Amino acid sequence: MRQGQMSHTVPRVGKPPLPDWSQRKGLVGRFASANHRFMLKLCQSEFDALRRYAEQAYPQECCGALLGTPTGDIREVCAAVPCTNAQADSPQTRYSIDPRELVCIQRDAHERGWEIVGFYHSHPDHPARWSTTDLEDAHWIGCSYVIVSVEGSRAAAANSFVLTGTREEDKALSDEEIVIE
Ligand SMILES: [Zn+2]
Repeated sequence: MRQGQMSHTVPRVGKPPLPDWSQRKGLVGRFASANHRFMLKLCQSEFDALRRYAEQAYPQECCGALLGTPTGDIREVCAAVPCTNAQADSPQTRYSIDPRELVCIQRDAHERGWEIVGFYHSHPDHPARWSTTDLEDAHWIGCSYVIVSVEGSRAAAANSFVLTGTREEDKALSDEEIVIE
C-alpha cells in the first residue's frame, strides 16, 4: 500500500551508483548529527539483479531477501534472492513472502555463512518511499528494507531503510545509504 507516506525529501539512490558517500557532505552531516551511519553495501551485480527482478515482476510488486553479513550499522549484501510474491489479493500494491520460503532461504544462507540482512520489494509506478503498510509489515529489527521504484516497466530510483527500534511498539524505518561497490 502506498497511502499515508511519510514525507521523505532526500532521494538517495538511483542510477548510476552512488559515489563514495563520505564525499557527500550533506549526508555526512546529517548522519553525524544523528550519531548513526546506517549503510547497505551492495555489489553492482546484485543491485542490477534486484532491479531486474523488479522489472520482470511489473506491474506487480516483486519481493526478495538480501543475504550477507551485518557489522554494526553496516550490512553487506552478498546475494539478492528473489521470492514469490505470496500476496494473492493485490500483488500490484502489496507483497508478502511465504514464511516457509523464508525458512528455506535462511537455512541456505546459514550454510553459506550468511544471514538475512534485509528485504527488498518494488513499487510499480510509484516512488521508492516506504508506506505505513510497509512499516506495519516490517518485523526484522536491524534489517534493511530496500524499495525499488519501477516506472513503466523500467527500474528507477531505489532507497533503503533500516528497521530501527527495539520492538513492534517503537519500530521505525530510518533512512540509510546504499553504497554500490
Ligand atoms: Zn511498499
